[in-house]
Amino acid sequence: MTHAILPGATIGVLGSGQLGRMFTIAARRMGYRVHTLSPDDDTPTGQVADREIRSAYEDLDTIREFARRVDLVTFEFENIPAATAEAAAEIVPVRPSGSVLYTTQHRLREKNFLREHGFPVVPFVAVRSLDELSAAIAALGCPAVLKTAGWGYDGKGQCKLAAPADAARAWATVGGGEAVLEAFIDFDREVSVVAARGLDGTVADFGTVWNSHANHILDVTVAPSGVAENIEREARRIAHAVLESLGVVGVLCVEFFLARDGRLLVNELAPRPHNSGHFTVDASVTSQFEQQLRAICGLALGSTELLRPAAMANLLGDLWTTGVPNWQAALRFADVKLHLYGKETARPGRKMGHLTALAATAAEARQLVLAARDALGTEGSR
Ligand code: AMP
Repeated sequence: MTHAILPGATIGVLGSGQLGRMFTIAARRMGYRVHTLSPDDDTPTGQVADREIRSAYEDLDTIREFARRVDLVTFEFENIPAATAEAAAEIVPVRPSGSVLYTTQHRLREKNFLREHGFPVVPFVAVRSLDELSAAIAALGCPAVLKTAGWGYDGKGQCKLAAPADAARAWATVGGGEAVLEAFIDFDREVSVVAARGLDGTVADFGTVWNSHANHILDVTVAPSGVAENIEREARRIAHAVLESLGVVGVLCVEFFLARDGRLLVNELAPRPHNSGHFTVDASVTSQFEQQLRAICGLALGSTELLRPAAMANLLGDLWTTGVPNWQAALRFADVKLHLYGKETARPGRKMGHLTALAATAAEARQLVLAARDALGTEGSR
């Protein structure tokens, strides 16, 4: 019998971005202490944690020292070397386990896992050379998308092929090496399910949400998604089965394409709280971050009930190109909540914060969050 890790204990977070920041805020609210480790200083997580340690993930002596001072290690960033998770696991529990990281941080391993377990995935072929790419194009047809097998996120390391003649350009764009060619899916919409699995095997999810992307980066999430009931049921069933077959302890997000012919296809997995679950901080009984804490600490999961329909809009660094956004104008929307991640430098495409709007319907919440974000770009007393 594994003991629960109770308030007063110290959680170690590997990674230091906004996911760690929101996790840390939830953990500290419940009386836990948090230490964070990453290669940076004055980080979004470090600013709100009890301790911030600057170290390379590959420095295993420092990782072990970090683990000795905490009761449990988790991560907020999945591209952490397997050896790092293993070094920490010599000393304290690591949740989710390094094996979950290992499978989900590599596109090809993840897709093979999903296919072998009978989950519906986008048709794909592994590609290791330009010749193999040509063969894969012949098998899948065009349009298609070439993606690097490892370390990709937010559309980085991806290239769309409109025709077989694009092969050489696409191969150069993703930088050669190991890659995956995927059929291009003509989707009706993208949806995701954020779910958690506790130490006792209980699974709870937040239902399907509708995600729109801009330049391959999540732009707006609407909850609930508004998909037909049978699709909702199927997406949730798949999400539960994925968490169970991976043996995840913690939160995991399953991203889907809902094809125009009604098929649900898994696009990718994120073994942690996810951008498409940020609305839960303001709109749900339990946030995805508190749920992560409960799951990894061996506590009962909280209610995932949605209190009001909600919509979340990301604030990317692009908003800063003409000066500091007009915060006051956005905050005049009384049902809109502002979240900023404490990042000093705004760069195009960098996630700086988000807005969440609550309303009587999902459509109204979406309209409201977009209006509030538009207001950030207006002139005024900034
Ligand atoms: P990813 O990083 O793989 O999630 O890709 C980012 C975004 O690119 C997705 O959310 C989609 O909007 C788009 N995308 C990626 N792969 C495909 C595909 N096979 N078919 C259609 N759109 C795709």
